[in-house]
Amino acid sequence: MYRGTKDIKLPTTITGSLPRPSWYTENLGTRHFLEAMVSRRFREQYEDALTCYLRDQELAGLDIVTDGDCRFDDDVGGQSWTAYPPNHMSGLDAAHPEPTPAGRGGIAFSRGHILHDYLESRVMPVITGPIGRGNLQYTAMWKAAQRFTEKPVKFGAVSAEIVAFALQDRHYKSVPDRMFAIADAFNEEYHELADAGCPVIQIEEPQIHLIAVRKIQDKVITPQLMVEVFNRTVKGLRAKTEVWAHSCWGNPSQQRMFAQVQSYKPALETYNTVDADVITFESSSSGGIDLEAIGKTITGKKIAIGVIDHHTLQVESPDEVAEKIRAALKFIPPERLVISTDCGMGREGMSRRHAFYKMVSLVLGTNIVRKELGLPLAECLAADERYSLVMAAK
Ligand SMILES: [Zn+2]
Repeated sequence: MYRGTKDIKLPTTITGSLPRPSWYTENLGTRHFLEAMVSRRFREQYEDALTCYLRDQELAGLDIVTDGDCRFDDDVGGQSWTAYPPNHMSGLDAAHPEPTPAGRGGIAFSRGHILHDYLESRVMPVITGPIGRGNLQYTAMWKAAQRFTEKPVKFGAVSAEIVAFALQDRHYKSVPDRMFAIADAFNEEYHELADAGCPVIQIEEPQIHLIAVRKIQDKVITPQLMVEVFNRTVKGLRAKTEVWAHSCWGNPSQQRMFAQVQSYKPALETYNTVDADVITFESSSSGGIDLEAIGKTITGKKIAIGVIDHHTLQVESPDEVAEKIRAALKFIPPERLVISTDCGMGREGMSRRHAFYKMVSLVLGTNIVRKELGLPLAECLAADERYSLVMAAK
């Protein structure tokens, strides 16, 4: 059901992660969140970082905010995005992690490529028994963020299949069995989160489009299986809250997973069968090549387009953002369009100021189009001239 985006025209948000403040030096590791929050030093740094993430989004004027993925450690390429669940779920041996074999999930980069470091940092707990939600504690993290802001806080986390691809397994008989077990554990966790009041739950990177374009000759690991895993992860959730499926073409170390720009077209019909209220598409870095196909194929759901490129440091101008929104409006009606970033900006490489001004442009550009459509504008305190410290010219 629509909750976070209900009643907002052209709602604005980001995918999730934001660059870590340099002074946020604490890491969770394998400690669980509530255990770490007992430590004065961890609690202070976590809550201060969270406050910065939320305040930056409020100053920019975003409608739906995130906790900036505050739980993640300062890992190579933001590996915590994948490693957080296995390090905190039950049925895994977190004390004796093992490297992920090459090629898992169709990801391979040779030595000399920046993402080879990312592959080397896939050192994950091993599955030794039935997987359970353990100490994921998503509800506690969402509450820790939502109690600091009046804006709706979207909670996002990695898909079950990405975690399944990364793990060594001494328990399940097949890869789908492993994926479904993780999906079921996530589902239990998300129900607690929805029951606690979380207005948007975002499942990040179901591998539907990546498997479709890689054309992996595998009779088992198919885009349809990824839909099955997604739908099992979110089963029953839409009766309680708003569910998003986030898709992009990669962001570890702010890199794409492919050398060339990819098209979503081979995956769109399958993607449209996910049990979600909103699907997000990376649209900015690709120049919006798929907007027409997305508008035609994705039905009965809202569509979030990326108008900000997370791979580049050049801050998009509000006019550029407005142009991308107008291009999307040719194929997607305004009541079904959500404005976002291509992906998260916090998985290594971007400064906090770059991310901040990208969010400001996102809102200012959306305001340009809102004005054209006669819609209410968002307040963007970050761009309010009354508070400029530069003296007026004489
Ligand atoms: Zn992404």
